[in-house]
Amino acid sequence: MNLLEEIGNAKSVAISGHIRPDGDCICSTLALKGYLNRALPDVKVTVFTQDNPPTIFSYLEGYDEMNLSYSPKEKYDVFVALDVSSVDRLGEAMWFFENADKTICIDHHETNPNLADVNVIRPEASSTCEVLYPLFDKRYIDKKVAECLFSGIVHDSGVFQYSNMSRESFYIVGDLVEYGFDGPKIIQDTFYTKTYVQNQILGRALLESILFMDGKCIVSMVDRKMMEFYNVLPKHLEGIVNQLKNTKGVEVAIFMYEMGTQRYKVSMRSNGGVNVATVALVFGGGGHERAAGVEMNGTYYDIINALSREISKQLQ
Ligand code: AMP
Ligand code: MN
Ligand code: MN
Repeated sequence: MNLLEEIGNAKSVAISGHIRPDGDCICSTLALKGYLNRALPDVKVTVFTQDNPPTIFSYLEGYDEMNLSYSPKEKYDVFVALDVSSVDRLGEAMWFFENADKTICIDHHETNPNLADVNVIRPEASSTCEVLYPLFDKRYIDKKVAECLFSGIVHDSGVFQYSNMSRESFYIVGDLVEYGFDGPKIIQDTFYTKTYVQNQILGRALLESILFMDGKCIVSMVDRKMMEFYNVLPKHLEGIVNQLKNTKGVEVAIFMYEMGTQRYKVSMRSNGGVNVATVALVFGGGGHERAAGVEMNGTYYDIINALSREISKQLQ
């Protein structure tokens, strides 16, 4: 796909990632905005983000111009969905998607149903930022655009650790670091550094975790009371599920937080023996083989039981 040709003579381009944006989502949308601003300076480019993006990403170019408002309802010539595995994950940006003249989707979720008119879906890629890089004409990549792409890859690969990092991914990271941004600082400040209360709530989640299925699964949950007590938002809970996954012997880690009465956001991570995307799909969610998510109704124990049934099918 030739991205600039696909955008063609468009005068306005809207870009959006998914609701409750993660690092790859924020970074890919800002990378594309930065790139288009350089390659097509006359085109109006708007990035939508439904929920306040994490402030750890405020060093990225374009962060302050992200559009948190969904009105007025203007039509865009082209809408680009990034890191979005299903149309409902666009949240309120869905209206702009449905009313654009042309839609493009660039993503790396194996559960993506080719949701746009033009799709580039590469499940083998570490991140949407990795999928974007070869679509960009190098003449319009500079330090600021490269910094966005690098940051997105860092976040979706757990600092280059996960099995989604291929030879190609490492070559791309190699190209990107040549642009001269401060990579180690980005990794420390945006991935490892947590606030004091984030570490406290992580500690609580680990302390209250439960091992089950002969130690092959681990689960923990943070309820609304705890979130209110520590004054944290869902985005501050990122990373807890990975820490649970680092438990010796564990194949699948499950972390949930309470979204409402008998409604939970579930995150699953796998060490390889179980495809958690297929588990999430059963309940209407999605994701990747080793990292998937879903929103579910029921009590904490209902949800553990339902997930266990699906996980145990794969553990046999
Ligand atoms: P999370 O557990 O929210 O960090 O998500 C892990 C992966 O699964 C990410 O790639 C998400 O984009 C994807 N994911 C999370 N929740 C959903 C959902 N409800 N539907 C589809 N994909 C999801
Ligand atoms: Mn994402
Ligand atoms: Mn991603």
